[in-house]
Parts: sequence; structure tokens; C-alpha cells
Amino acid sequence: VPPVVAVVGRPNVGKSTLVNRIIGRRQAVVEDVPGVTRDRVFYEAEWNGRPFTVADTGGWEYGVKGLAGKVAEQAERAVQRADAVLFVVDATVGITATDEAIVTMLRKANKPIILVANKVDGQSHEADAAMLWGLGFGYPWPVSALHGRGTADLLDALLEEL
Ligand code: GDP
Ligand code: MG
Repeated sequence: VPPVVAVVGRPNVGKSTLVNRIIGRRQAVVEDVPGVTRDRVFYEAEWNGRPFTVADTGGWEYGVKGLAGKVAEQAERAVQRADAVLFVVDATVGITATDEAIVTMLRKANKPIILVANKVDGQSHEADAAMLWGLGFGYPWPVSALHGRGTADLLDALLEEL
């Protein structure tokens, strides 16, 4: 059975875009409107000949009361069944209250966490990514899920954890 990688993060940070990038097909649900992904969705993936399963998460209604808690709860369920976690943050926005709820949950989870600083579309956003060192999840991998920038290095790092 291939290892499972959970992709977690608050709505709209680019989780599904990253999943599409990883699986190399436009399969996962990507929407400008947050909360379109209905539930955890599993995809077969491979990097450097190593197969693994990617679990995209989401499915929250934007603006619902207690969104942060609901996001963290669903992320926790995905994390519990995963061998490694890609925690996706929008580097151009920084850490919001919803991100913080996930951070609190991830600190208690005994799983390898890889911090993804997404939407680093160019050099000028590298500094935004560096700000995320403070989360304590190690190196914030600067990527652009949309354009593919940095995703090869990210996947190399992911394989190290599987
Ligand atoms: P999710 O809710 O976390 O799954 O986020 P989505 O993958 O649905 O993406 C939300 C929005 O962010 C979409 O408009 C994407 O095109 C955009 N997006 C995702 N990744 C990037 C990126 O690397 N750079 C930029 N500029 N936009 C991105
Ligand atoms: Mg999504």
C-alpha cells in the first residue's frame, strides 16, 4: 500500500492547485470560490518512481460560524490517516486565525509536517515565505502551485519523509 500524504490548509491557499501539480493532471476541484472541494479526495501520484497517495482536503462553507474550528477538525481527520502532511499556507497573506487553528492541531499530531509557502510566484515573494520560519515547522518551501515554481524541490523533500 503506497504511503498517504495529506494536503491541509485553510480554504483558498491553493491546496487543490498543488494536488493538480503533484498528480500532473487537472483532476482535483479548483475554484476561485473557497469551499468547493466537498470532502477528502484521494489521488494516485508518483515522484522519482515512488508511488504515493495524495489526499486533498476542503469542503467548508466559507463564512460559516466557527470556520477555523471546522477546518482544523477536518484537517485533523486527514492527518490521522496520513504518513506525512503538506501544510499549505498562502505566503502572500501570512498566518490568519484559521491557519493558527491548524497549526495548533499539527503541533500535537505526531506526523512529519512539510510547510508549503504557496503563491510564491516570483523572487519578490521569497521574503514572504521566509516569514513562515517562525511557525516552527522547519523550512518553508517556497512554491507556486499555479506555475510549478519550486515544486520539484518540495517533492524531493516530501520523499525524504515517506
Ligand atoms: P484550495 O481552496 O486551498 O484548494 O485552493 P485552490 O487550489 O482552489 O486555489 C484557490 C485560488 O488560488 C485559485 O484562484 C488558484 O488559481 C489560486 N492559486 C493557487 N495556487 C496559486 C499560486 O501558486 N499562485 C497564485 N498566484 N495563485 C494561486
Ligand atoms: Mg480545494
